[in-house]
Amino acid sequence: MPPRTGILLVVSGPSGSGKTTLCRRLAADKAAHYSISCTTRQPRPGEIADQDYHFLSQDAFEARVAAGDFLEHALVHGNHYGTLRSEVLGHLGAGTDVVMDIDVQGAAHVRSCTDPEIQRARVDLFVMPPSDAELLARLTGRGTDSEATIALRMANAIEEMRHWPSYTYRLLSATPEEDYARFKALLTAERLRVSRLAKNPAQDDCPTQTP
Ligand code: 5GP
Repeated sequence: MPPRTGILLVVSGPSGSGKTTLCRRLAADKAAHYSISCTTRQPRPGEIADQDYHFLSQDAFEARVAAGDFLEHALVHGNHYGTLRSEVLGHLGAGTDVVMDIDVQGAAHVRSCTDPEIQRARVDLFVMPPSDAELLARLTGRGTDSEATIALRMANAIEEMRHWPSYTYRLLSATPEEDYARFKALLTAERLRVSRLAKNPAQDDCPTQTP
């Protein structure tokens, strides 16, 4: 049995908030498993299938919905996105932390999920851009999206930002290094929760420290 159960770190925030970079960096540092989502949107230049996303046709996505393969799924910016159960459950059971980068609808689905393993594991964080002007600059600066896409993402971002009070934690983005330090501090603190110990220390006369 692993010394503690895995944490499911659910991260939302508008496109351009920097949340994907934070989640990816955590996985690159081997601090958590990054849940690779399925999507019906077209790959952007440079994106790699099955690393960035599992890119699916509409029919293939619908087949996986019908098969009950998704922990949650939602329509975001006109495309379907979904988290596979297989990207989350086995890892948590093995004591591995999982980070998922999903929109506010997906986070609401995970929040209302009745699976006790998910509820025990779940921690949610909303990443806020420092200002609307900075968000627009970040969205434009990517150089990968059309003007119409940027306008849609900006409008969606403003709507999405209304949801931050539903989250347990909020990170107001500053510099990438500061953001990452605070992000890791959150995970470190969550790992120290007594309720995450696989064995109840109250039953031990002399509990041992677990990492
Ligand atoms: P993008 O197309 O820019 O990669 O992502 C667009 C939005 O979809 C982002 O807000 C991202 O967090 C969200 N997203 C990515 N994967 C999932 C998923 O599996 N489920 C949900 N609900 N949203 C997702």
